[in-house]
Amino acid sequence: MAEVVLTSVRKSYGHIVAVKDISLEIKDREFVVLVGPSGCGKSTTLRMIAGLEEISSGTIAIGGRVVNHLQPKDRDIAMVFQNYALYQHMSVHDNLAFGLRNRHVPEAEIAAAVNRAARILSIEPLLDRRPRQLSGGQQQRVALGRCIVRNPKVFLFDEPLSNLDAQLRAQMRLELKELRLRVPTTSIFVTHDQVEAMTLGDRIVVMKDGIVQQVGTPLELYRRPANRFVASFIGSPSMNFINVNVTAHGGTFILAAQDVHLELPAARFANLGPCAGQSICLGMRPQSIRLGAPTNNDVGFNGTVLVSEQLGDEQILAIRIGPNEIRIAGIDPDLALSVGSQIEAAVGMDHLHFFANSE
Ligand code: ADP
Repeated sequence: MAEVVLTSVRKSYGHIVAVKDISLEIKDREFVVLVGPSGCGKSTTLRMIAGLEEISSGTIAIGGRVVNHLQPKDRDIAMVFQNYALYQHMSVHDNLAFGLRNRHVPEAEIAAAVNRAARILSIEPLLDRRPRQLSGGQQQRVALGRCIVRNPKVFLFDEPLSNLDAQLRAQMRLELKELRLRVPTTSIFVTHDQVEAMTLGDRIVVMKDGIVQQVGTPLELYRRPANRFVASFIGSPSMNFINVNVTAHGGTFILAAQDVHLELPAARFANLGPCAGQSICLGMRPQSIRLGAPTNNDVGFNGTVLVSEQLGDEQILAIRIGPNEIRIAGIDPDLALSVGSQIEAAVGMDHLHFFANSE
């Protein structure tokens, strides 16, 4: 069993607090992604788990053993870096064998482990090459191979796909998913890319300013973001936000802003009760909005077409409502909409999100 448990883990550099009291339980064989914008503390968290960075306070346990004071080599982890970190003067075979040779593992065992890893990653024909004779994707596969060979309790990934072009990144994402099936190992993966987080993670940890914003499955984060930051970070195009004033009128809450007037049944939106008389932030995913008049369970609004992005299978439309610009996804690519034209749009009431205005 190799669960990883962080309890109130903090990292300060002088008066800069890079990671603020993270507590997290990662289950055996779970694949967890730490995601957030640059500087949010995700690499520092990973490096503390790896033992490459001392922790200021808190505890880190791997497989039930507190590892706070253990050297990286004694933590039974293997790490994959963005820059591959391969030994350039060694063949792929020797790169894969290096860790085991260092630990004086018998040569027959090393050969078996290297061959197994090479087979899993389909790099058998590359074993005699030097890293510089490989493409970026192949080098990253060798770096993964080096981890597999070690058979560690935990894989740690520090933005391993960031150096690859978009097409290769997508392919390596699939390969990583397949790899998980063949080598199920507890994994922690750091990225700033929400698509990588969504596609790879069993669970995702969204971080900002050294603080965990939300932990959940990809669908939980997408459907029930805990705050405006998570809502805007997860999903593409980003969620639309409009600040609205909430007023109660009998059995109805009215959400109003310039050119926005939405009426919601109070019984169904009881959670808005405490917001009456206040300004809140209304969130709507671009994919939840459609063109046309609202029907039974919808609310609707009018807007002016600003611009359309043609993607071939869909158009993404930017429209202006009062001072706000919002985007609508999934528009028929053949629909011709001229800039400046007026459109009517609708969104299902179940797809409205509400956030505090200050977030
Ligand atoms: P991320 O991986 O999310 O981009 P990092 O974990 O690298 O973020 O950094 C988190 C914060 O800690 C940032 O504000 C960064 O500037 C700061 N930081 C990281 N390393 C050091 C260091 N060695 N000295 C001082 N500040 C650091």
